[in-house]
Amino acid sequence: MLSAVPRPVIVRAPSKVNLHLGVGDLREDGYHELTSVFQALSLHDDIEVRDADELSVVVQGESARVVPTDHRNLVWQAAELLAERAGRDPAVAIAIAKGIPVAGGMAGGSADAAATLVALDELWELGLERADLDEYAARLGSDVPFSLRGGTAIGTGRGEKLLPVLSRNTFHWVLALAKGGLRTPDVFRELDRLRAEGDPPRLGDPDELMHALAVGDPHQLAPLLGNDLQPAALSLKPELRRTLRAGTAAGALAGIVSGSGPTCAFLCADADAAVAVSAELAGAGVCRTVRTAHGPVPGARVIDDKTEH
Ligand code: ATP
Repeated sequence: MLSAVPRPVIVRAPSKVNLHLGVGDLREDGYHELTSVFQALSLHDDIEVRDADELSVVVQGESARVVPTDHRNLVWQAAELLAERAGRDPAVAIAIAKGIPVAGGMAGGSADAAATLVALDELWELGLERADLDEYAARLGSDVPFSLRGGTAIGTGRGEKLLPVLSRNTFHWVLALAKGGLRTPDVFRELDRLRAEGDPPRLGDPDELMHALAVGDPHQLAPLLGNDLQPAALSLKPELRRTLRAGTAAGALAGIVSGSGPTCAFLCADADAAVAVSAELAGAGVCRTVRTAHGPVPGARVIDDKTEH
């Protein structure tokens, strides 16, 4: 008799852009105190999990060949953590379809980790509470809880203490994906170096930005976008200055480095403007490739199939 093909579970997880990323001083534990307003974007990864004889990971899509497929992959760590908590073997085959740039400052690995938690909760019928998933997410990495929740949220601490933020309307973005990535720890180290040498400007609190989100007006939001890591990312990859200039010259309302970079995110007035800006940027030769995206979108969630929008 033929054995039944194991039923896969597919989960989609969003990328993120930091609308505001305030970086405090280095703490004694080696982390920086962060204030981050995140927005989940439609550019996503899909994770498919199915029962198997042993744990395995394959990666397809955007820069797949540079993503590890062993215990260094966050999905591997997520599967082991959940299996340990559930008292079972992590015997699953995990396939990652990457749309989120790798080491791009858009939390691709965190998205995959959050998606794996949701997928295995479903596959293994664990019926976990939100609070349990949040706790496992926080163990896996500081951006993982946001990838789980999605929407728009403010994070403090290392970024993992989250509160939802009221946001009206959909915002339209163009993302300029760079050649190569930036390692997040290198960017923080560069910021510490710049701060030791001089006094690069620091963002204030994000109150006005939160107000602009509640109003839902991209024109009001654009000048309030800010990222304390941007000078450090620009110092490590000076060519990003040209990318940022090209985006605003093409008609974006504002451009910022996303998180630790090197992806640059451009806020546009509406969907049509985003298409126009992306076409112009694609022809300007200032980045590897260009994507449009919108946000906020939900966090990691089960979908029926990958063609779903
Ligand atoms: P963040 O914005 O959270 O700082 P990032 O988007 O800059 O992260 P990631 O794409 O998450 O960076 O990957 C950073 C590194 O983590 C990669 O270079 C890779 O070696 C490793 N990694 C582990 N798991 C994954 C995964 N599932 N997808 C991508 N990279 C992963």
